[in-house]
Amino acid sequence: MADLRHDLDRLARNLRWAWHRPTGDLLRALDPAAWLATNRNPVAVVAELSPQRLAALEADPGFRTRVSVALADLDAELHREDTWYARAGGDPQRRVAYLSAEFGLVDCLRIYSGGLGVLAGDHLRSASDLGLPMVAIGLAYDEGYFVQSIDAHGHQHAEPATNRFDQLPTERVRDAEGHPLTFEVELGDGPLLVQAWKVQVGRVPLYLLETGVASNSEAQRRITFELYGGDSDTRIRQEVVLGVGAVKLLHALDLDVQVLHLNEGHAAFAGLERIGDLLAEGLDLDEARARLRDELVFTTHTPVPAGHDEFGYDLAAHHLGPLCHRIGVPFEQLWPLANAPGDHTWNQTVLALRLAGRANGVARLHGEVSRQMWARLWPDRAVEDVPIAHVTNGVHPQQWVGPEIGELLNRHLGDTWRTLASPDTFQALDEVPADQLWAAHRRARHRLVEMARERLDAQATLWGTGPDGNGLDPDALTITFARRFATYKRATLLAHDVDRLADILTGAGRPVQILIAGKAHPQDRYGQAFITRLVELSRDPRLQGRLVFLENYDLAMAAALVAGSDVWLNNPLRPNEASGTSGMKSAMNGGLNLSILDGWWDEAVADLTAASNAGFGWAIEAGSLPEDPGGRDAAEADALYRLLADEVVPTYHDRDAEGVPQRWVAMMREAITLLSPVFSTHRMVADYTRRYGQLPED
Ligand SMILES: *Cc1c(COP(=O)(O)O)cnc(C)c1O
Repeated sequence: MADLRHDLDRLARNLRWAWHRPTGDLLRALDPAAWLATNRNPVAVVAELSPQRLAALEADPGFRTRVSVALADLDAELHREDTWYARAGGDPQRRVAYLSAEFGLVDCLRIYSGGLGVLAGDHLRSASDLGLPMVAIGLAYDEGYFVQSIDAHGHQHAEPATNRFDQLPTERVRDAEGHPLTFEVELGDGPLLVQAWKVQVGRVPLYLLETGVASNSEAQRRITFELYGGDSDTRIRQEVVLGVGAVKLLHALDLDVQVLHLNEGHAAFAGLERIGDLLAEGLDLDEARARLRDELVFTTHTPVPAGHDEFGYDLAAHHLGPLCHRIGVPFEQLWPLANAPGDHTWNQTVLALRLAGRANGVARLHGEVSRQMWARLWPDRAVEDVPIAHVTNGVHPQQWVGPEIGELLNRHLGDTWRTLASPDTFQALDEVPADQLWAAHRRARHRLVEMARERLDAQATLWGTGPDGNGLDPDALTITFARRFATYKRATLLAHDVDRLADILTGAGRPVQILIAGKAHPQDRYGQAFITRLVELSRDPRLQGRLVFLENYDLAMAAALVAGSDVWLNNPLRPNEASGTSGMKSAMNGGLNLSILDGWWDEAVADLTAASNAGFGWAIEAGSLPEDPGGRDAAEADALYRLLADEVVPTYHDRDAEGVPQRWVAMMREAITLLSPVFSTHRMVADYTRRYGQLPED
């Protein structure tokens, strides 16, 4: 019996269960109530299994077989030598360290806030699947991004999202004597100790650094307390721990790494610590910087200014002082590396751009925007020669394709869709009859509506306007807007003209419903006002309960939404959506994007329209836009309403004798076949692998 608990614990401790469905299903079924109560933490579920339950499982030969098969499968995956990377001739000696302030991996590990983290999570999953030699490093926050609730007035409340790492799928990193591995990082007010937790993500280890060490002062222990919490003093302290700490951890673990990938500028101090290493090897500063350029890859993720960390001179000088002293480079020599002409701040993006040999944005348009944005750092170059390229983001197919469509793909495509797919891999889907594809999607929508009803019942203050006390209809055209409530995403655009919206949602015999979800940053008053406006709208009698706000958008909710929605809506203020990834998740499930031509969608429409017959979604285009923001919103809202009324709703309700919307299903099919192979993190990680210099030149 102890052995069974031990075996289950082993399965629970490798996060591969999150994208290996048989293992995930097995762990979830151990105790479905505890699974939900622990925020889907299988380590806690396994630890709490009662002796009776364990005995019952032990006595079930079918169950024991499933556990052995899952364990054998995990072991085979961990030792598999025939990987994409090996077959592509990748150099096994070139290891990448991937540094990020957030990772969206599983719900119980609350160390992410939004798209940046989920992308980092998908990056690790794909790196594991493709067999890339990678280690990842982040921070172990005691409190992650908040748990959201909405009161009857539509006000957002933020409750702490606590991580208890000793009860999570995380393991204390220990030294050879079995003591917690500890190393020192210096800040302006002195040295402190850092420790690490380890999470196994398939084949990729992720190390999470933390300062909660008993011998640190209370203030020092609080450095890694909260994800993106505190003021800029806290922020720079966290970033020193992350960047400098990452390089020190690699030394402490004796891990040789040839490439450092900075996922956003938060970890840019890693470059300074590496310069210190290279100086200690006897190089001079120019030589060290030249060598570092070969090592460092930097991905910038947003054109929005708030996404680029900046610190005042004094704050940066204070906290980097001891590092400067140790590596023997005066702060005045580092300052120009991180200071843009005309600015008075230390900018982490500027530092990363100046140190990294390879820098990129996250979609073609974002690459262009980034070159313009940072052209002032290269005053002698034409904008198109600014050294920022692009690697378009993707999403991890197995993580995001729901069980309904996943099962169809398994049946008709075999394993191929789960590895790096060629553009024609998905063509085998053409064999699947339209009614089967439609039936699979309907099952996913029904599951989504059931989830939404349960969630809405638990937030009863906001609810109760529909005809049967619950306006959701499992067969209505279901349109979803789910994302962070950053203002540039314009969550309230669809509320621009409520009467027009009401006409669209309540047309006789053509039911349409809108699901909305997302968190606003607790300091973002505008984002919170958007939530209040939408909650009010959900109670507007004109809409007859056909628009609802779902509390607490998280990974599990995202999974249900992307699998079951018919239409994925995105209406950002172009070009602020650097890439966006949730629309890719929806497309892989046959969801149709209805989006402003921004980020990845701009690229998808430009590159793939020629290959498409039926269309794979809709571009919200208002033609020439007025300059003033109000006029622009009005024009784009008008374009949105016109598309909905003239194309989206009629196409959805255009049924054949069997009730199948043939034109719609043809579009679903093209969304899956054309978009899945391109907007996948497998393709993205393969692109990065070439940039990392790990593959022989083509
Ligand atoms: C995919 C995802 C995001 C990112 O979505 P965008 O399209 O970039 O807005 C944010 N949060 C969660 C939970 C996600 O799954």
